[in-house]
This record gives sequence, structure tokens and C-alpha cells, in this order.
Amino acid sequence: MSGPEGSSIKNARLCVVAFYMGVVVQMNIDEFYMKIAYDEAMKCLDIDEVPVGAIIVKDDQIIAAAHNTRETTQMATAHAETLAIMEACSKLKSWRLDDCTLYTTLEPCLMCSGAIVSSRIKRVVYGTREYRWIALDRIIQDKSSINHHPEITSGIMEQECSQIIKDYFKNKR
Ligand SMILES: [Zn+2]
Repeated sequence: MSGPEGSSIKNARLCVVAFYMGVVVQMNIDEFYMKIAYDEAMKCLDIDEVPVGAIIVKDDQIIAAAHNTRETTQMATAHAETLAIMEACSKLKSWRLDDCTLYTTLEPCLMCSGAIVSSRIKRVVYGTREYRWIALDRIIQDKSSINHHPEITSGIMEQECSQIIKDYFKNKR
């Protein structure tokens, strides 16, 4: 699906026609998959978790889907992206996720970025930026200390992915 190294992925993205909520809609393939990651994030609202969702796609198939369950499991590593990576590795029986794309609603944190680099994920697409802490974009910029540099696309469904987190914290107050 993606072109040769360095080509403009954005322009090359296929469009898909999806049947969603009873309406046929045409959307960019990244938006299509981000919508599914967003639906994962929505599951967090039922269990009072910070709403972040992630999926992993390989050969146009979703091989893993997860949402943040840190509070529910009381597990510091239970972020959506890390859970999705663990599921994908388990499914593929390989720690290498070379040909996979990770879609996540929020820019991956320090820990999840480490898991992304370690698993050699080819491409990361995220919704909204993590402004508070050092996260994927800044980590990947450090070419000298990272041995794998995934291609990054940001700002897909940015407004929705940002709003769901803002609303969550607003309701907490
Ligand atoms: Zn994380």
C-alpha cells in the first residue's frame, strides 16, 4: 500500500468506502483506521480510564486492538499502545513488527515509544499530540541514540482524539 521509501504516503493513501452508522462514507485509509482506534479509546469511558486507544495493522488487517487499562489493572505498563504491541507480537509469534502500522489516538509516551522502537514498527499514525511530556516526536528526533526510526504521521482525527481526553478530565473535576 505504501510507496517506496521517502515517497509521500499522505498522497498515496488509498481511500476506502466504509459502511458506518448506516451511512456509506468515503474516507482516507488513515482516518478509517484511526476511527477504529478512537472506538477503542471510547471503551475507556465505561471503565473510568483516560481514553486512549490503539490498533496495529498489517497487510490491511487489524491484528491487535487495545485501550488504556492502567487503573483497572493497576499496571503501570497497561497503556493502549504497549498492550497492542504485546498482542501483535503474540499473534505473529515475533518481537519484530517490521511491516506493521500502529494507529493511536494520542502521541505515544516515553514508555510506548520505547516499545515502538524495540518492536521495529514501520509506521506510527497518531491523533493528537502529547504536549505535557516528552513523547514520540521528540524521542525519534534523537537520531544518535535510537536505532530505529519509524515513519510518523500525526494529526489524524486530531480534534476528536484531543476532545475525548479534555472531556474526560473536565468530567473528573
Ligand atoms: Zn504510553
